[in-house]
Formats: sequence, structure tokens, C-alpha cells
Amino acid sequence: MDYITKLNKYLYKNEHKFVPNKIMTKIITVAKGDGIGPEIMDATLRILEAAGADIQPEFIEVGEKVYRSGNTSGITKEAWASIRKNKIFFKAPITTPQGGGYKSLNVTTRKTLGLFSNVRPCRSFYPFVKTKHPKMDLVIIRENEEDLYAGIEHQQTDEVVQCLKLISRPGCEKIIRYAFEYARQYGRKKVTCFTKDNIMKQTDGLFHKVFKEIAAEYPEIESENLIIDIGAALLADSPERFDVVVTANLYGDVVSDIAAQIAGSVGLAGSANIGEECAMFEAIHGSAPDIAGKNIANPSGLIQGAILMLNHIGQSNVAEKIQNAWLKTMEDGIHTADVYSPERSTQKVNTTEFADAVIANLGQEPTALTAVHYKNGQPLQIPKYKRKPARQKTLAGVDVFVDWKGESPDMLADELQKLNSGEIRLSMITNRGIKVWPEGFEETFCTDHWRCRFQASDDQQVSKEDIIKILSKAIDNNIDTIKTENLYYFDGEPAFSLGQGQ
Ligand code: NAD
Repeated sequence: MDYITKLNKYLYKNEHKFVPNKIMTKIITVAKGDGIGPEIMDATLRILEAAGADIQPEFIEVGEKVYRSGNTSGITKEAWASIRKNKIFFKAPITTPQGGGYKSLNVTTRKTLGLFSNVRPCRSFYPFVKTKHPKMDLVIIRENEEDLYAGIEHQQTDEVVQCLKLISRPGCEKIIRYAFEYARQYGRKKVTCFTKDNIMKQTDGLFHKVFKEIAAEYPEIESENLIIDIGAALLADSPERFDVVVTANLYGDVVSDIAAQIAGSVGLAGSANIGEECAMFEAIHGSAPDIAGKNIANPSGLIQGAILMLNHIGQSNVAEKIQNAWLKTMEDGIHTADVYSPERSTQKVNTTEFADAVIANLGQEPTALTAVHYKNGQPLQIPKYKRKPARQKTLAGVDVFVDWKGESPDMLADELQKLNSGEIRLSMITNRGIKVWPEGFEETFCTDHWRCRFQASDDQQVSKEDIIKILSKAIDNNIDTIKTENLYYFDGEPAFSLGQGQ
């Protein structure tokens, strides 16, 4: 008998009595997690059971115990096999031990399973939960796999470190299409895209371009692009003007926390991580070791994660029943200690009592808060990404990055012009992106990290051999090259940034 079967047969036997009623019963992989994880997972599973969710949990161990056994990823091969087989992973929060090279299980799971989309609904529950934004009801859809989170960082000179921002067309198409399909499925009216393409014309420019292309396929849904700075400011000030927000990984990380916080409900929010094959559902809060084992934690974040999961697997009637019962419980003023206040609450309850109250309200709808009515039917399905035919790529030059401790860019230019080779000549030097040669300003502060652009004087194509010649002359002239970036045209369009001030 394998480990997962033993775990389910002996450790968790008799704890949860889901009654599979059809051949189609969905087996889901469940991790009870650490800290408050087991308490809130048990409460949530009891609600799912009572609401008639047609699921069968298969339990796995992940997190602290696994980390402490010497497995730095926090997840075993058997647990991976269960998730890959069942495709749906419902996870309570886990504790990542400090130090010791332990890797975040969340990041590992998202990347390993290709969970490209992070979906985080942020809704206020005013007047039952305190917030300055009573009408807020939006969903942040954050790209989950790329951007600055690729974790490709290098120190290149004594003074400069770099982090590579990678944005791909498949990455943009997948997340943006997901956002529009989500809007269509859940009757949302508008999708807003956040980018910074006035500055990052290639990376964020691609995200914006793909957004415009895909928005055109969904004419019934309003679309807009906002620069992230004003977008985030508007989101914090008047979140009710937003419906679905789609954005790249780092911006999404920041704005989803802002949105959850101003909804007044970080502890009440759930999140979904969706891939082409697999999906993971959870609460957004952590394992709260400070209150673990006391039966006082709020299970609402995980309940919201479960509602996202039920919708995802096509059991939206059960999702709707639980959401409306939960809203009714909130407006009845039955609150756990974290949201309890004498003005807004009628009863302070523990974890078990809160779950009991939700179960008692199954079949009822809220009256003050707006009840939900999910579209019943097929789970949201995104077609697998199909690679586009490649465009014609021509090499137009090279940026040679140089570590140089001299003072004046003109002196560096004198040295670099010795590397000119035939028609390929030094055309520009920038320092941290600002053009400093030709015609730089004395006032510009320069570090020891220089981008030196070589291009054919008549804009002609160059060859890899031309680049090798430049680099080999650099060695002969004691110039410390630290990296190169080729300059390309795609279908005749330049695909590299100009120097700022160029
Ligand atoms: P946390 O979210 O666990 O706790 C922050 C505060 O919120 C604590 O005071 C806690 O008591 C309270 N809190 C959190 N959830 C609550 C709930 N459901 N009901 C009532 N109060 C609640 O954040 P932290 O303290 O920074 O992290 C603790 C551990 O959780 C760390 O090991 C961290 O790595 C881990 N973590 C895991 C996840 C995850 O698995 N998705 C996410 C974040 C943090």
C-alpha cells in the first residue's frame, strides 16, 4: 500500500464522510497544512460535505513536517503524483521554516504545474466588515509565471546588479485571454489592464499590445489600459470603478494585496492558481502559528478558496449555495474574533461554531449583502496555447556591456571606437539607460556599468562573426565586457529600446 493510500486509510479515516453519488465524483488532492491549517480545513470540508459537493478528498502531507524531514521543497514525490493525477489541489496554509534554504512551496507549485493565472476576488462586506469602500467588488487576475519573478539576477560590476524581466507572448496571451473568459463566464462587464508601457516599451508594450488584440475578440466586454501608477492610485481611491483587472506578475502581487486590504478582508479572501491542466485553491493568509490549536481562526479565506474551486470544477450550484450561506452568516453578525466588533457583530464564535452557522444557513440568501448567482454549466476552459508562426528576425547590431571605472564617457568612447569593425561602429553609450555619448551632459551621474551600442552605419544587417570580431578586439584592448545583447528587427520593426535622451 503506498504512502498516500495509508495516509488516507488510517490517518484521516472517518474524519470526512463525503458520499460519492456519481461516477463523475471529482477526486481532489487536499493538504491540511500547518498552524491553523488543519482547523480551518476541517471546518471548510464539513461545509462542503453539508452543501453536497460532489468531491472526494485525497489527503497529502506537505509543509513543515516534510521540510523538517530534510526535503527542502516541502513536498514529496507521492504528493506530486497525487496532484498530477487529480489535477485539483486544495491547500490550507503552510509554514515555511526560516533559513536553511527551504523553498516556498507556493512558488514551486505554481511554476512546476504551470499555474499561470492567479485569481483573487476582492469584495467588501460593508457594513458587516469595516471598509472605506462599501461598493467594491473586483477580481485581480495576476500573471503568475514570468516577469521579474523568473529570478534571473546577476551582479555584473562592482556597483551594479541586474534582474531580468521576461515577458513572453504566450504568457501575455494566456493570462489576458483567461481574464476575458473569466469576465464572460462570471458576467463581469469590464477588463482593465495595468502596464507601464510608457517606460518599458518592449516588455510592458507587448503586454498592452496583446491586451488590445484579445480585447477585440470580446466586443461585449469593455476594456481599458491604465498606466500602473495611476491605475494603482485609482484602485486604492475608488475601487468601485474596477471590475476585472489583469496585470503582470509584480504589479499583480502589489495591487492584489492593496485590493484585499482596502476591501477590509485580507483574512476573508481566497485565491485560485489556474493552469492549462492543474489548479490550486487556497486562502491568501498564512498559517497563523500565533493562534494555532485554539479553534479561534476564521475559516472564511479557505471557504472562499473552496468556492473558487467548486466554480472551477463546474459545481457552481454548490458554490453558490455556500457563498450565499456564508454571506448570510456574515450579515447575521456571527463573526470570529478577527472580524468581531461590538457595533457590527451579534455573536463572537469559534472556528467550529462559525462552520456550524454557515451549515445552518445553507439554502438561504443574504438580504442586506448582495446574493450571488453563478452561471451554472461547464467549467471555464481555456484552449491550450498554440504557438504562432515565427516572424522574420534579422540581426541589426549588438549592445556590449562594459565594466569601466573611468570618469568621462568621451574617454570610454575613444577606447571603444578601436573596436569598430568595417561598417559596424559604436553608435551610442548609455549609463543606467541614459545616453551619455555622443553629446552627453556632465551632470549625468555614471556608474561603472556601460551599455555600448554597435550598429552598421547604414542600418544593414550584421552577422554573428561581426560581433565576435568586436568582442575579440575588446580582449586585445583590455576592455572588460560583461555581457552582450543582440539587437534584432522582427519583420523589419526594431525590437530594442533606444537610449533615454536618444
Ligand atoms: P499570517 O497570515 O499567518 O498571520 C498574520 C496575522 O493574521 C497573525 O496575527 C494571524 O493570527 C492573523 N491571521 C491569519 N489568518 C487568520 C485567520 N484565518 N483567522 C484569524 N486570524 C488570522 O502571516 P505570517 O504570520 O506572516 O506568516 C505565518 C506563516 O505562514 C509563515 O511561515 C509564512 O511563511 C506562512 N505563509 C503561508 C502562506 C500560504 O501557505 N499560502 C501564505 C502566507 C504566509
